[in-house]
Amino acid sequence: KHRLTLAAYPQGLPGPEHFHLDSQPIPEPADGQVLLRTLYLSVDPYQRNLMAPVGPGYAPPVPLGGVMVGGTVSRVVASRHAGFRPGELVLANAGWQDYSLSDGSDLLALGDVKQPSHALGGLGMPGFTAYVGLLDIGQPKPGETVVVAAATGAVGSVVGQLAKLKGARVVGIAGGADKCRHAVEVLGFDACLDRREPELARRLAEACPQGIDVYFENVGGDVLAAVLPLLNLNARMPVCGFISHYNDAAPVPGPDLASVLAKRIRVQGFIILDHYGERFDAFRRDMGAWLAEGRITLREDIVDGLEQAPAALARLLQGGNFGKTVVRVSES
Ligand code: NDP
Repeated sequence: KHRLTLAAYPQGLPGPEHFHLDSQPIPEPADGQVLLRTLYLSVDPYQRNLMAPVGPGYAPPVPLGGVMVGGTVSRVVASRHAGFRPGELVLANAGWQDYSLSDGSDLLALGDVKQPSHALGGLGMPGFTAYVGLLDIGQPKPGETVVVAAATGAVGSVVGQLAKLKGARVVGIAGGADKCRHAVEVLGFDACLDRREPELARRLAEACPQGIDVYFENVGGDVLAAVLPLLNLNARMPVCGFISHYNDAAPVPGPDLASVLAKRIRVQGFIILDHYGERFDAFRRDMGAWLAEGRITLREDIVDGLEQAPAALARLLQGGNFGKTVVRVSES
């Protein structure tokens, strides 16, 4: 059998030089195992992130010398597992090799499917990513504007089509005129912008006259920068990936959103003014009691005299205050 192992960690773009092809005898399944033959191997952006000494946090990195990971559609060719018959098609994680063993725990029987490779795309992990990210997190409503980049790819193409199904207006971003035409003419997007043409920010603003309600984040970088100023009040941004950064040799300067994704952080802006009607009475009751019981301590930084207010503000803005700054204007 043949397999590709990770030979070196890439700096920048990965290529054949980072893999090692070797051949080995086809293994025999032990009791409880199946022997699989790979029919289709999934190629996905996350694989780049696992080709590093330190992984992205959501999956272990591939060790040097290890078989490159990847989802597969495989055929059971020999079985010593009660749950799988030879000839059956399964969704598996065989990685970059033509034969592999499994104990069955990572296998999903596919049954008699028309296009087995769809189990790696629209009917599999990328389609599911679009489904959860858009419908559960993005929650597009009829008439809203949804923007997605990598618009003709595995995830983005499903995101846009699901958004259309939900009655939203969909603006895609893709690399090149052919992809953009496909997004509009075949996938039914309302518009699609070529990310390689100049002035993306201006063109995106023109394509989204009502602003953006859902931005499904696949790419980061210039696209994210163009989107941010156009986001509407209460917009949603499922943070799915940042493919424009996966080959960066060094971390992007300044803060970035990578840990929002890796740590599944929910980011939600709020303005407290919106919450007085519903929550202020409960807050005053609880806080009043906690303060009275000594369970909350408050420190104040009191400045005397109205005329001191400007200086107090300046002091606060430089961190010179220690506690809640209050100006005492009058004692009685
Ligand atoms: P695609 O099939 O969309 O292929 C990748 C595409 O990314 C390319 O075709 C290209 O599209 C686009 N791209 C590549 N480089 C850049 C760049 N520098 N700037 C902008 N776009 C770029 O891949 P997937 O659909 O599988 O993945 C899309 C995103 O979803 C990725 O970020 C991936 O990591 C993420 N993902 C996240 C998951 C999760 O659980 N959070 C699960 C699955 C995927 P074009 O030429 O049109 O710009």
